Amino acid sequence: MRNRRQMNRREETVLEQGRKGGSRPPVIGLTCDYSGADETRSFSRGYDLFYVNCDYVRPIQEAGAVPVLLPTVTQPELIAASVATIDGLLLTGGDDIDPLAYGEEQLNPGWKTDRLRTIFECALIAEARRAGMPIFGICRGCESINVALGGSLYQDIPTMLPGALVHQAPGGASHPVDLVSDSQLAHLLGSEHLKVNSFHHQAIKKVAPQVRVVATAPDGVVEAIEVPGDTFTVAVQWHPERMSDDDRQRALFVAFVEAVRRWKQAGRPASGGVGA
Ligand code: MN
Repeated sequence: MRNRRQMNRREETVLEQGRKGGSRPPVIGLTCDYSGADETRSFSRGYDLFYVNCDYVRPIQEAGAVPVLLPTVTQPELIAASVATIDGLLLTGGDDIDPLAYGEEQLNPGWKTDRLRTIFECALIAEARRAGMPIFGICRGCESINVALGGSLYQDIPTMLPGALVHQAPGGASHPVDLVSDSQLAHLLGSEHLKVNSFHHQAIKKVAPQVRVVATAPDGVVEAIEVPGDTFTVAVQWHPERMSDDDRQRALFVAFVEAVRRWKQAGRPASGGVGA
């Protein structure tokens, strides 16, 4: 362990706040992806894993919040208890939403879905919105919010939207997006026209009743949504966490953490609040 002389100013501030029991940094829960037991992996060989890519964790830490991982659990009382331990919810990317959640059969068994995570996130989103808690969704997280609120998805863009742009290519694709000018997202990004990365093969089909589409690609594919009336329920289909050299995309994480900080300082509602 380093001694005090080797600490930087930020670390000293954190230590000082801890001693004083002052305003503690907000805690942000990140949902995890799941990997089955893998005999070829060089670590944890033969064990299944919950995991999250570090690029989701770093911008949360850099914005001054504590990231905690929320591995998939399905008992309702544990989901409610999970939400009680966090101040903000970050829905990360990952395997497909189970189409059963929007009443469809899976068209191709080769597409990898995560049924338990689908159930978990739908319940998490409902619980977080009941508390009025800020929610930020990325890629699968964007799809998850739409499905949790009663929308549906195109199960595979190339199959179901054959004329669409490339939204997933080896090494990633990129395309422009147009934002709705009076949206929270356009305000946060400071622009209505952007080029973004694209690593998704699914997209929003039926938009959920409470959801507002706030960004689209030139082919009409939904690229971002918000829930008007919520404190901060914003989601993007692209991956801002992989665009760390882009100030605008980094600003999204900062804005999310600021919304979480304000919500925390305003005091968690005892029950009820905006939402579901
Ligand atoms: Mn895209």
